[in-house]
Amino acid sequence: MSPTLIVTIGPCGAGKTRWRRRHAPPGAVVVSLDETRAALSPCGCSGNPAVNAAAVAAGHATTRAVLAAGGTVVWDVTSFLPRFRAELLAIAAEYRARAVGLVILPPLLRVLAQNGRRDGNRCPDCGTARRVADPVVWRMHHDITVALPRLHTEGWTELHYLTLPPYLRPHAHRRFEEAR
Ligand SMILES: [Zn+2]
Repeated sequence: MSPTLIVTIGPCGAGKTRWRRRHAPPGAVVVSLDETRAALSPCGCSGNPAVNAAAVAAGHATTRAVLAAGGTVVWDVTSFLPRFRAELLAIAAEYRARAVGLVILPPLLRVLAQNGRRDGNRCPDCGTARRVADPVVWRMHHDITVALPRLHTEGWTELHYLTLPPYLRPHAHRRFEEAR
């Protein structure tokens, strides 16, 4: 079995967890920063920033252990920061693992609507809510959008574009060219 690292790339509200629950390969170990933060947080919040570094470190440790054993790890995360993706790709390279990036980037308005359906009540202890502030979602969406043209240079073995806004779909451009 060849070690494989699968990483979602998509803003909060894009449908990453739904994808993972339906399509993660059987036997894969899932790393969800939301779920790890919730487990580590005294108030049980998935967005608690105080435990973020510990959650990322725990995820990296799990990834190393699974890849060393030849297994598959699925990261259910936003990965909107290039540095965050680079750290995961460096771990994959260490274990000569396949690195598969899954871009899940629905149109911004749909992502905002899906995020808006989450609980907006703030936790009195850590101050976060399940619903992320709209400007944060917009920024993640923007950062991933501008990273798309260079994503193939980051070191992924495979990149899959599962969901893209219509204005970013390559076949839409091709069709436009053919129509002229
Ligand atoms: Zn909290």
